[in-house]
Amino acid sequence: MKVLVINCGSSSLKYQILDMENESLLCKGLVEKIGIDGSVITHEKIGMDKFKLETPMKDHKDAIAQVLAAIQDKDHGVVADMSEIGAVGHRIVHAGEKYANSVLIDDSVLKAIEECVPLAPLHNPANLLGIAACKELMPSTPMVGVFDTAFHQTMPAESYIYALPYEYYEKYGVRRYGFHGTSHKYVSKVAADMLGKDISELKIITCHLGNGASVAAVKNGKCIDTSMGLTPLEGLVMGTRCGDIDPAVINFLANAENLSIKEIDNILNKKSGVLGISGVSSDFRDIEAAQAEGNARADLALKVFAHVVKQYIGSYVAEMNGVDALVFTAGVGENDKQMRAMICDEMDYLGIKLCKERNDVRGKETVISSDSSKVKILLIPTNEELMIARDTQEIVNNLK
Ligand code: ADP
Repeated sequence: MKVLVINCGSSSLKYQILDMENESLLCKGLVEKIGIDGSVITHEKIGMDKFKLETPMKDHKDAIAQVLAAIQDKDHGVVADMSEIGAVGHRIVHAGEKYANSVLIDDSVLKAIEECVPLAPLHNPANLLGIAACKELMPSTPMVGVFDTAFHQTMPAESYIYALPYEYYEKYGVRRYGFHGTSHKYVSKVAADMLGKDISELKIITCHLGNGASVAAVKNGKCIDTSMGLTPLEGLVMGTRCGDIDPAVINFLANAENLSIKEIDNILNKKSGVLGISGVSSDFRDIEAAQAEGNARADLALKVFAHVVKQYIGSYVAEMNGVDALVFTAGVGENDKQMRAMICDEMDYLGIKLCKERNDVRGKETVISSDSSKVKILLIPTNEELMIARDTQEIVNNLK
């Protein structure tokens, strides 16, 4: 079966087609500036050069129509016609407490995604637009929803309840949900394969360190805690998000700078993190370049980032009463040996010892701990699209 994977944002859309016969990637692409001037699709058939087409796209339906044209294009296409696409898998951000697994999209699922809009006001509406566009243009193709929050639904209440008046949880669902679930699930499975063990016997800490970053504690194959919360703002220091802070900072800044809640929200999400501390960039490559030139705030930003990841690792070791594997994934986790070394520095008490030579690597599945490390440290490139395509294929095959 060929599966089209769609990841829809408010003005952009990423897609891939995977041939699930051998799990190979056939093509991938990106549509940008949907509904604004300069709409453009960049499409890449694997093994060929990318092509870019700038053409007006007033909405997500226009964008999906361009994607369908690209994948059937006589030169750059990968299917002769749409009947070759067996299913569409949609990445959806928030399912609240509704789904702990991926599901076939029907009217009740659409309603559930709609109901979660207050919890993910930027993402869920965009996801719904993508689904509606696909439904219109591919009415007979089954669609599956794969949720960022689903993998974390196994967390026990003591991990997800905030110490607020309980009525806010009951009334509005204010609790920890966690995100990047598809990535944490994928890399924890690969980690078990790499260790040659059943995941049900393992304690794994997965560090998804990208522009957005989160850590998860995966015990016996189930997520028992994660660092992101009601929204992706909580937890680690990120590219531009502040992560954990004293909530009283909000009130303090509102008074001191005469800012509205909305303005502060924007600062915490877009102007904080390693960008806020360094004043240089949200990109670790730029910050490390500045650090190498002696920029003290760049140095501090990297130290703060590593410090918080280390704190979470320590707390999850305590929560799980041990750890067998520590996994690094996503942009920073996969590519940044300096940051991995900073995080793993002086953790031998916990049995975590990085091998300097093995750590000198980027973007491939490999062990980077030393032979004497009790805990295996693994570098595993994430592949959320493959995980989405696997879930999609499984659900659609079960319909037959
Ligand atoms: P997201 O999906 O959250 O946007 P990614 O997982 O793609 O983010 O990670 C992007 C980030 O990864 C960049 O902002 C940059 O900080 C970091 N990154 C990418 N390549 C490198 C590299 N070679 N060295 C250090 N950091 C890198």
